[in-house]
Amino acid sequence: MSNVSASRHPLVAHKLTRLRDTHTDPKRFRELVREIAALLAYEATADLATVDRDVQTPLANSRGVELQEKIGLVPILRAGLGMVEGIWDLMPSAEVWHIGLYRDEQTLKPVEYYNKLPVEPTVSVCLILDPMLATGGSAVATTDVLKRWGVGRIKFVGVIGAPEGIKNMQDHHPDVPIYLAAIDDHLNDKGYIIPGLGDAGDRQFGTG
Ligand code: URA
Repeated sequence: MSNVSASRHPLVAHKLTRLRDTHTDPKRFRELVREIAALLAYEATADLATVDRDVQTPLANSRGVELQEKIGLVPILRAGLGMVEGIWDLMPSAEVWHIGLYRDEQTLKPVEYYNKLPVEPTVSVCLILDPMLATGGSAVATTDVLKRWGVGRIKFVGVIGAPEGIKNMQDHHPDVPIYLAAIDDHLNDKGYIIPGLGDAGDRQFGTG
């Protein structure tokens, strides 16, 4: 699991415990998703390229840098939406692209129902966002779309991963690093991560 990292940061662990708690209400749940997403994105972007740029302080000239890479945030609908704002605050010039996928009940394969990506890629790095890496089906399909679009570097940022979803991503896209707050035990027969946190979409949007 060399390209999979589960954060060791105490703040992440503390917030994740609150997030898992069945008594956490939707408002606090959304805040926690947003905060954890920002902390994980901080780790996931540690290797972004920069270019040198001089800056004039009130007192003198100083050497500095600016980000060289154009970043795309790609939330997996719908639970991934809650991860966007916290990361966007950190990198306000990022572009947010939506790709809509649903699972065909007959074939069990993801079907694309929304995709407005322009012909040429407009970003060089994409962060795919989904709190739950469960079966990995949507993550694999979203990565397929982004690779076809021509994005050079793709990373997956999630909150909890199941071994099954991690394996699925690694089998199909071993070049995509995975950043998580925790790796849990297994998926149950309904596709929920155990112990997990329940349905991340329902708990954010109050629809459970
Ligand atoms: N999606 C969720 O929201 N929760 C899970 O446990 C698995 C997939």
